[in-house]
Amino acid sequence: MSTPEIVFAGSGGGALTQIADYEAVGGFAALAKARAMTPDEVIAELDASNLRGRGGAFFPTGRKWSFVPKPDRIAKPHYLVVNADESEPGTFKDREIMLRVPFRFLEGCLIAAHAIESKHVFVYIRGEYEQEFEVLVAALEQMKARDLLGDVTVVVHRGAGAYICGEETALLESLEGRRGQPRTKPPFPAIAGLYASPTAVNNVESITTATAVIELGGAEYAKLGVENSTGTRVFSLSGNVVNGGNYELPHGFPLRDLIYGVGGGIAGGRTLKAVIPGGSSTPILTAAEVERVTLDFDSLTGAGTAIGSAAVIAIDDRCCMVQLAVRVSQFYEHESCGKCTPCRVGTRWLTSILQKIEDGRGSQADMDLLLSVAERINGKCLCPLGDSDAIAVASYVDKFRDEFQAHIDEGGCPLHGSSSLDH
Ligand code: NAD
Repeated sequence: MSTPEIVFAGSGGGALTQIADYEAVGGFAALAKARAMTPDEVIAELDASNLRGRGGAFFPTGRKWSFVPKPDRIAKPHYLVVNADESEPGTFKDREIMLRVPFRFLEGCLIAAHAIESKHVFVYIRGEYEQEFEVLVAALEQMKARDLLGDVTVVVHRGAGAYICGEETALLESLEGRRGQPRTKPPFPAIAGLYASPTAVNNVESITTATAVIELGGAEYAKLGVENSTGTRVFSLSGNVVNGGNYELPHGFPLRDLIYGVGGGIAGGRTLKAVIPGGSSTPILTAAEVERVTLDFDSLTGAGTAIGSAAVIAIDDRCCMVQLAVRVSQFYEHESCGKCTPCRVGTRWLTSILQKIEDGRGSQADMDLLLSVAERINGKCLCPLGDSDAIAVASYVDKFRDEFQAHIDEGGCPLHGSSSLDH
């Protein structure tokens, strides 16, 4: 399968951080094209491309933009907010996009602003992404010097290290200067977002890809990838593989080929035990399932998991699945904002039961309790954070129940704590 570059096109494996270099590979032609189109025509191209949100939810980008009311319907400022608060464990693609193709990303911001008739763009960037922040600010300065922004203002706002601020409504709260906690939805941000005004919230990769969609034309873009999952995706590959990193590949690429081909296989001559396919919130796949799935929405959903943020984590045979569950659950417990009870109490409860099982103090009743708590979190929280913990943990039990059972039967970890996560 050929591997066209859309997001990273023209970067040649390096970084396009000088405006002249970006223009030399056709930069800003898409912006000029978009500005010569009406907002509805731009949205129609996005619809034709079937570009779907790359943050994890896979919501159609054109449809999201079309939800933002026309300015004459709601007489308030319209906002574009870009979610650059990438924090899902295993996910590090937006970081590389901002570092390597900052102009394509910022060009996409201006195209999106035109489509939703907004003059105000906020890029909410993860606090730890200091270099990425500097690259974006430097790129913006170059664009301003060339008068490319027109009457649009672009503000790059740094977060402060809270995972919850990647949830779109918590992000908006944080941007408004309040504690980052989710709001109830509806109303969705498209109707009442930043400062209670119509707001499109999009992920960095979605926005960067929008530039390519306008450049190529929606129908042409839709020829890449597979049905329902058009185009390319930047997959973050990590874990026990030889060649971890970000790889831009067409949707529909076989998962096995990513791990054993592109990724160079399992490190240290070990064997693959499991794969988390779309970031830590997505259900785990066994090594046998890895052989059958392709990296697209339909295949992964059909296998009972999700493409999520396209963060593929390979896990080798040294890993104790109970310990993995403890670590994942600890993460969500730590990052829970505490606003809703099922998440605040449930994630803590899950972690403590898992720790008990891992330590060899678990009973049969704890296994039942674990699944019961997971069930009582899932679907009952204000936002997906609590669900993510519950879904991930339940999938480890579902796929590796024998291993959990062995901890209870043997009063400890059969792998004697020699988890790959310790190394
Ligand atoms: P969601 O399905 O609730 O919403 C997706 C988007 O569509 C949102 O922008 C929402 O406002 C919009 N939307 C949905 N229905 C709408 C409607 N009827 N009207 C108007 N707008 C509508 O999902 P979410 O909570 O935004 O995201 C969850 C995903 O985030 C998870 O699947 C996970 O993969 C991903 N995630 C990513 C990261 C990361 O670092 N990239 C971190 C955590 C989670």
